[in-house]
Amino acid sequence: MHSSAEHQGGSASGQGLKPEYNDIWQRVCQGLRSVITPQEFETWFAPLDMRLEESQAVIRVPNLFFAEWIKDHYRKLLQQAVDDALGKTVPVVFERSLNHIGPKPVSHELLEPSFRHTPLNPRYTFDRFVAGPCNELALAACQAVADNPGKMYNPLFIFGGAGLGKTHLMTATGNHILDRFGEHRVHFCTSEAFTNELIQAVRFDGIDSFRDKYRQVDCLLLDDIQFLSGRERTQDEFFHTFNALYEAGKQIILTSDKMPREIPGLEKRLRSRFEWGLLADLQPPDEETKVAILQEKAAEQGMELSREVCFYLARQPESNVRVLEGYLTRLIAVSRFRGEEVTIDLVKQVITPLVEERQVSLEEVLKVVASHYGVKVSDLKSSSKTRKITHPRQVAMYLARQLTKASYPEIGRAFGNKDHSTVVKGVKKLKLLLEEDPAVAENVKAVERIIRNGESLS
Ligand code: ADP
Ligand code: MG
Repeated sequence: MHSSAEHQGGSASGQGLKPEYNDIWQRVCQGLRSVITPQEFETWFAPLDMRLEESQAVIRVPNLFFAEWIKDHYRKLLQQAVDDALGKTVPVVFERSLNHIGPKPVSHELLEPSFRHTPLNPRYTFDRFVAGPCNELALAACQAVADNPGKMYNPLFIFGGAGLGKTHLMTATGNHILDRFGEHRVHFCTSEAFTNELIQAVRFDGIDSFRDKYRQVDCLLLDDIQFLSGRERTQDEFFHTFNALYEAGKQIILTSDKMPREIPGLEKRLRSRFEWGLLADLQPPDEETKVAILQEKAAEQGMELSREVCFYLARQPESNVRVLEGYLTRLIAVSRFRGEEVTIDLVKQVITPLVEERQVSLEEVLKVVASHYGVKVSDLKSSSKTRKITHPRQVAMYLARQLTKASYPEIGRAFGNKDHSTVVKGVKKLKLLLEEDPAVAENVKAVERIIRNGESLS
């Protein structure tokens, strides 16, 4: 931090910039906007400004965390944007602005120390969860935890594919705990919400309130923990939250689409803690269980279905219960609308168009691949040559070619304006690798399935 710079620049007051500096910063921002997502820009660059000194560009940040984050994630892009705006290379340094100029924090309420209760979905109860061999262990573990929070299995880690009932079971446990032990502070949040809340807190120096809030919880339900993959700062914070709750005997329940050791970019110390308690898996339901689930879901919508119809639906290749539920909702709507009984014929008419292959977009491919490999979409679009990035980028190019109707030049444009020949090369390389390495092939197939099924959309 160059605090001496404060006195040499154009702004004696520490407030407004000389107009020409402002212009240059605007140009830097323009450059940045073209290479990062609008959300990244709003989060990390909109609150900053810059002034020029003889030999350096001084970027003013609200606190140290900004400087660190930007150095870790955007150093090259920022330097490039500054160089482009100035027409020459000028080193970038950071300075904490005492008199912060950027926009005010958007979400003051997130930083309130008091505990805010997030309502649990009341439809997700044990009563409405259909037991079967596919979910025996997870269901029993959740029921045990619900009767004895913090005492039986801590943490309880539920894992399994999309739409198999992870969120339902975890929420049912929370609902049960609230029913039985009214005073318990059950807090449900997705890992994505946890991360966003943490970033907001750190950006605006609300970290103490954030910690207070999470350490007051009696039962923490954190959904889709695989989302923490590669997010070091969030994992670090969650590690401390975890320890505080664990040591206080508070219940922690986690869900994930994979087991801990299969989550890429998950710190060892977190992984080992996740394995301390019980790992319980959810498997795709067998036909009988699917039928029972369909009957339960139809009953919830005030409809009775014949076994014949239920079996027909259960025999669809789909194992994601959420997707089956989608078929059912549509079927019931059409039957009511036409005033017709639900027959096999009606089922065929209604669900056939849904079963046909979905249109996949390039953005979807980028998003799913990035999340699967624990990198950012902007990494895939960048020209970084490190293997950590080049491999997922080639996978994304290959899947873009397989799953969308986009041409090579169109794919190139979607990947940060690359030449079509770069895409051709990337796809070729990956195809070779797929033939050579069955583990890679398996992995890519898994990503392909996630995209085809639209699992990431749910
Ligand atoms: P996940 O979190 O694993 O992606 P969800 O918990 O969101 O899946 O479940 C998707 C849908 O399927 C929900 O509507 C849920 O109620 C339903 N579902 C899944 N498994 C069962 C089951 N065994 N019994 C009843 N409903 C189920
Ligand atoms: Mg879920």
